[in-house]
Amino acid sequence: MNLTIAGLARLSVCDWPGRLVATVFLQGCPWQCRYCHNPALIAFETAAEVEWGEVWAHLLARRGLLDAVVFSGGEPTAQAGLGAAAATVRELGYQVGLHTGGAYPKRLASLLPELDWVGLDIKGLPEEYPAITGVGTSGKRAWAALESVLAAGVAFEVRTTVDPRFHTAAGLVDLIATLQAEGVSQLVLQEVRLPGAASTGLSAARLLDELGTLPAGVSRRAG
Ligand code: SF4
Repeated sequence: MNLTIAGLARLSVCDWPGRLVATVFLQGCPWQCRYCHNPALIAFETAAEVEWGEVWAHLLARRGLLDAVVFSGGEPTAQAGLGAAAATVRELGYQVGLHTGGAYPKRLASLLPELDWVGLDIKGLPEEYPAITGVGTSGKRAWAALESVLAAGVAFEVRTTVDPRFHTAAGLVDLIATLQAEGVSQLVLQEVRLPGAASTGLSAARLLDELGTLPAGVSRRAG
């Protein structure tokens, strides 16, 4: 299988809500989010830590015990081999989930028929992206990815990491309204984890508190 695999979580209960999954972390991401929790997974040049054979052996041994496989990253859609891997895993009887930021919307659109669920990161409104990711086209790409996911009718959840360095309460209200108008029915606002947040006064929790009661379909997740 033509994949550069950075890691394998053999059992996860949180990577796809409601499913017992194995999570395959793929190396490489074209963006450089300032809050990235997996910065070691950004470089494309880094060699694989895990061989596909190890993943395959685990999935063969856990058939009937795990529900699904989630491909995560990094940005898993950066890898051309993802489609073949997803199809192979499905043939084995697993459901397939994907975590993506939508950096490659065309490849994502072609993958959607192989997917049962998508956890899509929408980092903000399109114009807010360059400050977050460091890449000028990232907002356009991510929102194009959202359009594809909505059009495909696949089960999905949108997640937004709330970071007081980039978001405001008014901007979040606008983001929530825009996503809901697009047809997003499940949105999770995740609090960013910032080292030293207490001393700097930057608090995602406090920012979210300013929003008050969230609309139906929108929830908070602690950082
Ligand atoms: S898109 Fe995800 S993996 Fe890539 S830099 Fe941003 S947070 Fe990290």
